[in-house]
Amino acid sequence: MSAPENLLVLILVSLLGLVCGSFVTALSYRLPRGKDFVLGRSQCPECMNQLLARDLVPVLSWLISRGKCRQCGVGILNRYPAIEILCSVLFVTVALAADPWSLIRIILLWGLVVGLLALSVIELEFRLLPNRLILFVFVFCGVLAWMDKRAAGDVTIGLAATLVAGIFLRVFGQIINKKPGLRWDDIKLATAVSIAIPIAKVATFLAFGGGLVLILAVWHDVMRKQRCFPFGTAICGGAFAALL
Ligand SMILES: [Zn+2]
Repeated sequence: MSAPENLLVLILVSLLGLVCGSFVTALSYRLPRGKDFVLGRSQCPECMNQLLARDLVPVLSWLISRGKCRQCGVGILNRYPAIEILCSVLFVTVALAADPWSLIRIILLWGLVVGLLALSVIELEFRLLPNRLILFVFVFCGVLAWMDKRAAGDVTIGLAATLVAGIFLRVFGQIINKKPGLRWDDIKLATAVSIAIPIAKVATFLAFGGGLVLILAVWHDVMRKQRCFPFGTAICGGAFAALL
């Protein structure tokens, strides 16, 4: 099979991306707050009223209600439709650019987009990478490595090198800056994604991850928040670029 060129297929993929983006917003809201993200009903975070089906259409509901809760009128964060659109763009990118192309591989990569996007959003808001999501990414990367027939030796070298580099950066930060350079959460996530990233793609991972670190550093400094650096988000961005 080859990448879809049919416009209708691409439109369906982008709609699927919007729906999954809506799931990412629910996941990234509920998981760090200890709420049930499978059975829990969607509610307005302000007035706690339950949202109806017509409030849950990705992007469209937000546009129709002009970015406000229909029941209490409080503004809904712009980031919710932004995450849905970003997820949709990433889904289409995966469908067009995945190499080698196979449907099972595309579905695995879409799963990884959902996991990595949710981790990025939670990391930016809470400086937290939930273990359950890291485990999800770890399993998907493992299956991807198996499908791509990565040699066990290469996977082991990648795992060990990531672990050593992560611990080195952690200790280096402690010595230079009096606080750990990387948190254990960051090291766990980097190790999980390293399983699926071939050695030839490490440069891509570092280039995109590093670029995101610079962008986040500028934004971080502008915001002047006395919080730790969201390295997890940069790791997710780097991993996505390298996996494609
Ligand atoms: Zn409300």
